Amino acid sequence: MTVQTILKQKQSGKGPEAVTVQSSATVMEAARKLAQFKIGAVVITKIDGGVAGILSERDIVRRIAEVGPDILSSPVRDVMTRDVVTCTAETTVDDVMARMTHGRFRHIPVVDSSDRLVDVISIGDVVKLHVEEVQREATTLREYIYTH
Ligand code: AMP
Repeated sequence: MTVQTILKQKQSGKGPEAVTVQSSATVMEAARKLAQFKIGAVVITKIDGGVAGILSERDIVRRIAEVGPDILSSPVRDVMTRDVVTCTAETTVDDVMARMTHGRFRHIPVVDSSDRLVDVISIGDVVKLHVEEVQREATTLREYIYTH
């Protein structure tokens, strides 16, 4: 199972594929986007579509705790994580889970072969896929038991 399976599921659903903000946007503007789209992280893209950074709700909460609410008027570039772990549509879901577990984050931008942002997948997308897989397996097993 690869990231492509998750992307197909998401694209048949609602909403934009990846919510982005400019690095010059304020943290407050980014926080509004998180609330508006009910998501946990926004990606900051470069002019060429590459990934420049990621800003998650955790970054915002941590910086408010460290320096206070004034951080909300700072530019996103001062708070975002710059060293972003990405994946491609061909990455396996197991590999994505390993990267999330190892890096202790819940979001991974998906990039194409030119490193341009395609989408973002969250741990919620991965868990949803797993639950569906387990349910499918259980149904198959039940059918097998009833017919044998
Ligand atoms: P999260 O669990 O995704 O809310 O993020 C926890 C921390 O990891 C925050 O500091 C994020 O900026 C950072 N982070 C989130 N996703 C990634 C990623 N794919 N690569 C590197 N850092 C990330």
